[in-house]
Amino acid sequence: MNVAVISTCLYAEELEDKINKKWKQITFPIFISTCKTKKQGQMTCFYYEIKDTLFLRFYSRFLGKKIRLRICTLIFNMIQENIQYELLREMIDKEYSTLPIIERNHFFESIKQWLALPSAGIDREQEKKVKNILFSELLDFLEENKKIHLEGFIQFRMQQYKTYLRQLMEVYLQQWQVQQEYNHFIELLQMFLSTQPSQMEILHVVAHKDGTLTIVDDNGKDITDWSIQEFIKELDIQEWSYEDILMSAVIQLAPTKVIIHKHEYIKNQKVMNTLKRLFSANLNFCSQCSRCTEEFSGYKNRG
Ligand SMILES: [Zn+2]
Repeated sequence: MNVAVISTCLYAEELEDKINKKWKQITFPIFISTCKTKKQGQMTCFYYEIKDTLFLRFYSRFLGKKIRLRICTLIFNMIQENIQYELLREMIDKEYSTLPIIERNHFFESIKQWLALPSAGIDREQEKKVKNILFSELLDFLEENKKIHLEGFIQFRMQQYKTYLRQLMEVYLQQWQVQQEYNHFIELLQMFLSTQPSQMEILHVVAHKDGTLTIVDDNGKDITDWSIQEFIKELDIQEWSYEDILMSAVIQLAPTKVIIHKHEYIKNQKVMNTLKRLFSANLNFCSQCSRCTEEFSGYKNRG
């Protein structure tokens, strides 16, 4: 009894490889099941057959379902590992056809890397839902037709998944644009700092448990209040965060070096990243000097 047929032009090799690896898992010793491969021109067909006898008819039906479920898992895995990236590539080529191929390649590679990141801005619930829908569609299709043409399914039956991929591409683009703007901001800041006469050698920043910061000049003088006043005077803003004050002090004083004491208390990682980009090797961390062990008085009620 024939329980399923898969036909494909492009994915025969990949499929065969997967079938060979998985075939043993779907064979029960009591049934004799086979997968025969036939080539017809460009097309390769995989025929799944099981021996059907009167006594075993119910079990044959059960095994048929089990085989189709396995086939769907194979195809679904192929989509996740390979085909979805081909679809993304097609979208990029179609929607950004005016970009030179080298930029499209770069865009494709970076979106692929981004998708693999656990921190990518992906709605995991939606991802799960879309993937479940895809799997159900695959299974329903195969249960109904007992045969599937892989390229046909990808072309005509995966609209929802393609919409999802397009959404991911847009999320990535937005994040990428924000990153580009940030890079531009850092470049401007670097340029500005390089033209500023440095007003001190080392600026010390002491972070505290409650999220406040103490800014200290290289003579050991607490200049936090002065920095806050300068910030308010300069920008005429009453609302501020310690991170704003720190960045403003850095820009104003253009120190050669910045030392951060107890950096583990700095909650805003964006500021840390900005400082790292601006100062590279001239940004140092300390956790054992006297500033790290004793608390400064008077900082707690600032702000
Ligand atoms: Zn220290």
